[in-house]
Amino acid sequence: MPENNKPQQAKKIDLAVKSALWLGPLKSQAKASSQKGSQPGSQLGKMQQPKGQLVDVLVARGRIVSVAPVGSLDVHAAKEIDARGLLLLPSLTDVHTHLREPGQEYKEDIASGLCAAAFGGFSNLLCMANTRPVNDTASVTEFMLEQARKSWPDGPRLFPIGALTKGLRGEELAPMADLKAAGCMAFSNDGRPVASTELFRRAMEYCQDLGRVVIDHCEDPWLAPAAGVNEGEVSSRLGLAGQPDIAEAIQAARDVLLAEYLGAPIHLAHISCEKSVAIIRMAKARGVDVTAETCPHYLTLTEDEVAGYSSSAKVNPPLRPRSDVEALLDALADGTIDMLATDHAPHAAHEKEVEFDAAPCGISGLDTALATSWELVRAGKLPFGAFLRAWTTAPCQRFGLPVNTFAPGDPADFLLFDQDATWVVDPQTMKSKGKNTPLLGRTLRGRVVAHFLAGKSIV
Ligand SMILES: [Zn+2]
Repeated sequence: MPENNKPQQAKKIDLAVKSALWLGPLKSQAKASSQKGSQPGSQLGKMQQPKGQLVDVLVARGRIVSVAPVGSLDVHAAKEIDARGLLLLPSLTDVHTHLREPGQEYKEDIASGLCAAAFGGFSNLLCMANTRPVNDTASVTEFMLEQARKSWPDGPRLFPIGALTKGLRGEELAPMADLKAAGCMAFSNDGRPVASTELFRRAMEYCQDLGRVVIDHCEDPWLAPAAGVNEGEVSSRLGLAGQPDIAEAIQAARDVLLAEYLGAPIHLAHISCEKSVAIIRMAKARGVDVTAETCPHYLTLTEDEVAGYSSSAKVNPPLRPRSDVEALLDALADGTIDMLATDHAPHAAHEKEVEFDAAPCGISGLDTALATSWELVRAGKLPFGAFLRAWTTAPCQRFGLPVNTFAPGDPADFLLFDQDATWVVDPQTMKSKGKNTPLLGRTLRGRVVAHFLAGKSIV
């Protein structure tokens, strides 16, 4: 080894992953060619998947040391992994899950939810506050973090979201400073959106003072709340009371107007329709500090899933017509929708296997999110750069989480993904306790073969 390579050579390499396929730019090359404000993936084109190159990944002390063309680094690693035939991806971050513990462990518990996350490709998980009791006191937050540490000490990392209001009742603010001190990374009344605009305004101001972002489930509380089916052709044919898309868009408009007026940040959860997209697009053009997420099911399924009174497709907000799906795909590609999230909402079989009206809303999503969203990249409907932004950089930047961009020093959180492996979604293949998904029985392509978190193997 030449003398000038000594600093690199001196570093002890703990893990070397060899010959993985990487579809993005390499960080050293990226600096030279695309530093001038170009979006990641913008040069990749919408209708074709990039060819990529084979790379070796070196990890030391839980961090990326280097990602370089295969064979260009001569190292001795404590552990070597042969990744031929596998795709390299940074681990995903999910800012919207329901883990049901404490209180409804028969639906899901923190251990089973983190298991589904590990196998589903997620390194960071933000979990909502609608547990029993509600996560509106520091002791509940601490309990959640302790359960995560006990069950999955090496991660996936859990970041609880605190309640905006006590008991999610929408009457009185929760003790958000205490919740932040206990470890809450954001605040939301998800599941029971705050009807009072005055109270919601005060919640936003309080969170702004705390340096935390409010996540809002946008739903007008009087327009057929939680109907679980879109108001339109399908709902009239079935004789069900549907919820119109304006129920979401009206609250999205309220929220961005408040955010602009207060100069405060807002994050809009699970956006499902074109009208909300138009509002977000306008707000961003006006410089409002708004970010938004949508979920794989709003990009891949339509209201037709409900046609046979299928309660597994009952979700809030409801699945929409094809035109909304197309608008969401465009909005995700152009960045109007910043990120993806699962809205993982596990329920027990006996709860869903009832009449449509009586069934709870929600789809179990951690097991299937990566495969279904990767199918969009494969089909040319989602650029690879937008996929990476939506599952990694955008959620991490918004909520202040560690993110792996494969630059030296980044946390070594990454996956080896077999994009051609097929598997059938069924109660045995799903790690979540919640088997409630309209995808049951369907064959998906793409499986996580290995998952490293801070350089440690968790799958
Ligand atoms: Zn929600």
